[in-house]
Amino acid sequence: MTWSPPTPQPAAFAGPRRIVIAGGGTAGWMTAAALARTLGAVAEITLVESEEIGTIGVGESTIPPLVAYNRILGIDEAEFMRATQATFKLGISFENWRVAGESYFHSFGGTGRDHWSAGFQHFWLHALTQGYDVPYGEHCLELKAAEAARFAHLPDDTMNYAYQLDSARYAAFLRTMAEADGTTRVEGRIAAVELDTVSGDIAALQLADGRRIAGDLFIDCTGFRALLIEGALHAGYDDWTHWLPCDGAIAIQTGSVRAPLPYTRAIAHDAGWQWRIPLQHRQGNGIVYCSAYLDHDAALQRLLDTVEGDKLVRPNPIRFRTGARRRQWHRNCVAVGLSGGFMEPLESTSIHLIQRAILRIARMLPAGRVSARDIAEFNEQQLLDMEQIRDFLILHYKATDRRDSAFWRHCAAMEVPDTLAHRIALFRETGRVFRKNEELFAENSWVQVMMGQGILPQSYHPVAAKLRKDELEHLLRTVRESVARTVAALPAHGDYVARYCGAQQPVAA
Ligand code: FAD
Repeated sequence: MTWSPPTPQPAAFAGPRRIVIAGGGTAGWMTAAALARTLGAVAEITLVESEEIGTIGVGESTIPPLVAYNRILGIDEAEFMRATQATFKLGISFENWRVAGESYFHSFGGTGRDHWSAGFQHFWLHALTQGYDVPYGEHCLELKAAEAARFAHLPDDTMNYAYQLDSARYAAFLRTMAEADGTTRVEGRIAAVELDTVSGDIAALQLADGRRIAGDLFIDCTGFRALLIEGALHAGYDDWTHWLPCDGAIAIQTGSVRAPLPYTRAIAHDAGWQWRIPLQHRQGNGIVYCSAYLDHDAALQRLLDTVEGDKLVRPNPIRFRTGARRRQWHRNCVAVGLSGGFMEPLESTSIHLIQRAILRIARMLPAGRVSARDIAEFNEQQLLDMEQIRDFLILHYKATDRRDSAFWRHCAAMEVPDTLAHRIALFRETGRVFRKNEELFAENSWVQVMMGQGILPQSYHPVAAKLRKDELEHLLRTVRESVARTVAALPAHGDYVARYCGAQQPVAA
């Protein structure tokens, strides 16, 4: 027998030949670097940015998918970390979230050992009924390494990590890479966006000095201004402030006062929270607040009163409206970065959303005219990512025992999306979490934050009860001993960073 399916006769590749990126912050240069490296000479990539306007100047804590992203682009990790003065990050320490004075850790990676039918938490919950009293986190390598401030790369990537990096240096690093791969940078202020009078698509960017930058596909990386996707194309915005009410932030950089910790701190206060991100050469700090409960001056004072180390820059105030652009890709324009929406950096997800958008653009790049089906697919996937992250962030505010301020009483009483209400109820009843459609946060992330915020399961999977008491004890002891052995053999994080990618001598511990 011979197989002879019909032979396709696709149209020859006809574009997009000209990709124009508006804006040169983290989003713009991440897009340029990735597309220039992926497409090479197939597309002509131009990036327009304005030094006079500048970038938002924050965005320094990341999550593990960035490690894979850098590998895809062939970026040498040590070189990248040296250039961005980066440190390693094993998770986030959440302090004062359930009640003031208590902390929990959201680590990257898994805890213990899962069974195919049930996560490790079920075995741990069963052990609790047998008198076991060792905390869940004791079975997590990344958590224990963070607690001991130790780090090293382990064989087979058994230690999950991300980076804490300097955002300005990151954009500069990506710029060098993108320009070496053929991206043309244009310095200038975009004064107007010209639409094609027939199709309604974007035809060109008009610069203040009269230059005109024409293109086939436009990527809007103009930050909160959203000059193309909203200013010109009116894609619409879904406001999520009724679920995530914080609307202001102030950032400040300070000198390091100790060796860098391998984790970011998120410290709740009575009307929001503060971040601390340790880099090699300095620390990033900021306060996020809800202006209905705390005004700017009081937030600034609180930030200045609590930061450690010399203040290196003037405080950078930022106002925002949490939500998502209704159409992330509209006509021949895709929003990437803050132009596509914003959620506070509680779980360091914005750079990740940039990365997801870029990978999707690269996968859905039109061969000729932009396909409405690609646009629909892109919008559905990108918005689902954003909604899943939104639910995860709301969890931190909703599930709290704090009632010590009007802000926390408001959060505890607020309605949450049905998708989140279902997850909380399911976990409370059964200890189960299901990950949906390539969702970013894994089961162990939900488990750690749910329990950290005080949502405690009332039952567990019966498969855990199958283990005899001695088998269960053996399992838990083996995990704990393996974690303790591995952590004991790790070097101090600061020393490892200095050896691996040190840009300067770290501050002594
Ligand atoms: P921007 O940095 O604002 O860049 C916009 C670009 O457009 C600039 O180059 C600007 O000059 C250009 N532009 C604008 N208008 C014009 C014009 N008319 N003509 C020419 N050029 C123009 N993300 C994380 O992943 N982790 C974090 O820890 C984190 N922390 C954050 C903390 C805060 C308080 C905020 C607000 C955000 C944080 N983010 C974080 C998000 C992160 O900062 C952004 O996702 C990231 O910096 C991308 O920003 P951007 O490139 O979209 O916008």
